Amino acid sequence: MDVLRVDDRLTDEERMVRDTVRAFVAEKIAPHLAGWFEDGTFPARELAPELGKLGLLGMHLQGYGCAGTSAVAYGVACRELEAADSGLRSFVSVQGSLAMAAIHKYGSEEHKNEWLPRMAAGEAIGCFGLTEPDRGSDPGDMLTRAERDGGGWVLNGAKMWITNGSIADIAVVWAQTGDGIRGFLVPKGTDGFTASDIHRKLSLRASVTSELVLDDVRVPGSAMLPNVKGLKGPLGCLSEARYGILWGAIGAGRSCYEAAVDYAKTREQFGKPIGSFQLTQEKLAWMEVALGQAGLVALHVGRLKDEGNVTPQQVSFGKLANVRAALDVAREARTVLGANGITLEYPVIRHMNNLESVLTYEGTQEVHLLTLGKAVTGLDAFR
Ligand code: FAD
Repeated sequence: MDVLRVDDRLTDEERMVRDTVRAFVAEKIAPHLAGWFEDGTFPARELAPELGKLGLLGMHLQGYGCAGTSAVAYGVACRELEAADSGLRSFVSVQGSLAMAAIHKYGSEEHKNEWLPRMAAGEAIGCFGLTEPDRGSDPGDMLTRAERDGGGWVLNGAKMWITNGSIADIAVVWAQTGDGIRGFLVPKGTDGFTASDIHRKLSLRASVTSELVLDDVRVPGSAMLPNVKGLKGPLGCLSEARYGILWGAIGAGRSCYEAAVDYAKTREQFGKPIGSFQLTQEKLAWMEVALGQAGLVALHVGRLKDEGNVTPQQVSFGKLANVRAALDVAREARTVLGANGITLEYPVIRHMNNLESVLTYEGTQEVHLLTLGKAVTGLDAFR
């Protein structure tokens, strides 16, 4: 169901993106997801060129082989990808909104020409190293350092929880310099640079998450992103990725909702479908309301972004509200499915577990609450 029919407000182009991504996901992704999740794998190398062919990598960026669509079209694509799995949307977000966006916004012409066309085509994979083992919500206090070494730089430190880390051809690494935080492009195979995967995750299992270690990594002076200095560099990219999440979460929630509605109509107890009980209908009605509201928020923030008027606070609002809504829907849907809700035969618990990561990454729920609290009161509660 979609009582509000929010999608009726999409343009023809946006609807075409929706239908294309939905069909791709149904044919190429959905049949494999439970297996990937169970095995803890994600076939990034095989999928990246296909995602590239569909124009989904760096989709909303202009030039350099990128599709240059509207922000709403990009959001709709994220929603349809995450209806399959948050891991798939994370791959696309990190590639396009974090790694490619950093190069696109802050890189030199040489950086852009060298990396963006190959990344848009899915021939090269990127990652974005901001979080550290001991610095998560407070990246401004990061410990990774870049020191001048003649004309070049030497990087030392570690980055933790880095999506695509071990499979990336190019890492965007943020480091403190004597002159503030700067971004560096560190290619795979650079001496002293290693990436190892984090195992035993019970969330985002169909996604590669890694630790990066930089041990006297020497890069040329040209490896630094020249056009930004300070925390506003990584935050500018995070705002892009958070925007994709505020759409994506709706997809994960919708998938859980649809599973719950189907199940409620066919599962019988006490001689009737469980969907005929008022308590079940109440759960489904609240899910419909939560997802309808989330859809309106996403479309509103997306249209503001396309007009060039969106603020980081509005993106925080959307990320906070829509991930929370999707997680609530997933948890309630799980109860509708009873014991079946805990298995990978249905998408619900997979989405529910994934959404725990989505609630935490790209700014935790608390960080976004404090951002809004600051906007409301004018008082900074972060420290
Ligand atoms: P902490 O910052 O240690 O926070 C712990 C708790 O304390 C949280 O509840 C937090 O909200 C709370 N807290 C912290 N400060 C305050 C405060 N001032 N007031 C109130 N509460 C506070 N990072 C990247 O750089 N690149 C990636 O590609 C990437 N991918 C990820 C993929 C996955 C699957 C996950 C789980 C994480 C990923 N991250 C990535 C890291 C993610 O962004 C961080 O986990 C997140 O920013 C939170 O940092 P932390 O885990 O260190 O938690």
